[in-house]
Amino acid sequence: MTAPHVRQVVLKVHSRCNLACDYCYVYRHADQDWRSRPRIMAPGTVSRVADRLAAHMRRHGTERVRVVLHGGEPLLAGLAALDRTVRTLRAALPTGATLDVAMQTNGLLLDEAALELCHTHRIDVGVSVDGDRTANDRHRRHADGRGSYAEVATALRLLARPEHRARYAGLLCTVDLANDPIAVYEGLREFDPPRLDLLLPHGNWSVPPPGRHPDDPATPYADWLIAVFDRWYAERPRRTGIRLFESLIALLLGGRSGTQALGVAEPDVMTIETNGTIEGTDTLKTTTAAAMRTGYDVFRHSFDEALRHPSLAGRPTGMAALAAACRACPVVDVCGGGLYAHRFRDGVGFAQPSVYCADLFRLIWHVRERVSADVAALRRQSVPAAHR
Ligand code: SF4
Repeated sequence: MTAPHVRQVVLKVHSRCNLACDYCYVYRHADQDWRSRPRIMAPGTVSRVADRLAAHMRRHGTERVRVVLHGGEPLLAGLAALDRTVRTLRAALPTGATLDVAMQTNGLLLDEAALELCHTHRIDVGVSVDGDRTANDRHRRHADGRGSYAEVATALRLLARPEHRARYAGLLCTVDLANDPIAVYEGLREFDPPRLDLLLPHGNWSVPPPGRHPDDPATPYADWLIAVFDRWYAERPRRTGIRLFESLIALLLGGRSGTQALGVAEPDVMTIETNGTIEGTDTLKTTTAAAMRTGYDVFRHSFDEALRHPSLAGRPTGMAALAAACRACPVVDVCGGGLYAHRFRDGVGFAQPSVYCADLFRLIWHVRERVSADVAALRRQSVPAAHR
């Protein structure tokens, strides 16, 4: 077994946002430390990140790592700062190593100049948008209440153009039960994304997600997701990938998950705030502020030291970390207990099923039935005479 190491760094290059989405985990949840952090990651901090990352890669013989330029809104840092950041990171890399760079943006500042920078540095662009205008503007609004759909739609039409498409990574959409699932899916598909992902809204047993009462056996999120799955799965040819469903199918067939929301993977994501503080996965911000704080930073600590903290690879992982109910569950290899942050309960911690347990089970079982029926149909086919 290889020692735990970082495969992805989420780099908070700017700590503020030009939208005021009402579900945002950075600004609306337990951890409010962003208020005291610098707006922009200073060049000296980027240099320390680059040195720490390079040392970590050398130590583990890592040949490839991914950095996601994140925020707040990363484009608020300005193109010159982003240019300098990527150059600094790549210049420090061990010989022969590859740095994949991505950016997760709300799209409002994504124009020709920003895309030129993305082409220069091969930065793959993911854009957050929640579907059609009604769905998107339900939450993704400016501080004065104006919706952001028109601006993000303009950016996405630009990103989807043939000359920019190579940089188009995909769309991130947060599910809201108030939105019609098919209208959301069709609204996202209008932007012709190579891939999209559907995220469950953050919540846990102490602060349940909207519409998900922990003791209620109803499965509103599974119902919503199944409507999209059935539409997507029946498409021939499929025009876009959906990471949640593709991961689910891959796991059912013994493959790997492409999302932290499913599967029993080791934590390999590290978040670095604008002041150089090292944290675990960003979604822990939705639990309690203390759950995120490692007390480590890139000025005083190596990535290996930080990895030992319980919010990173120092926490129990694999089957042993799961609740007894999960370990006994017939879909545990696929579900993995759900996203770590969604298992939290005040005073108890994380060793329990996801607050979405009933939804996850129903969704996984539904997909399992559809895929098994297809596999059974394949098995009934006989080899044509020409290939015998
Ligand atoms: S469906 Fe529920 S019990 Fe089964 S692994 Fe997932 S969270 Fe655990």
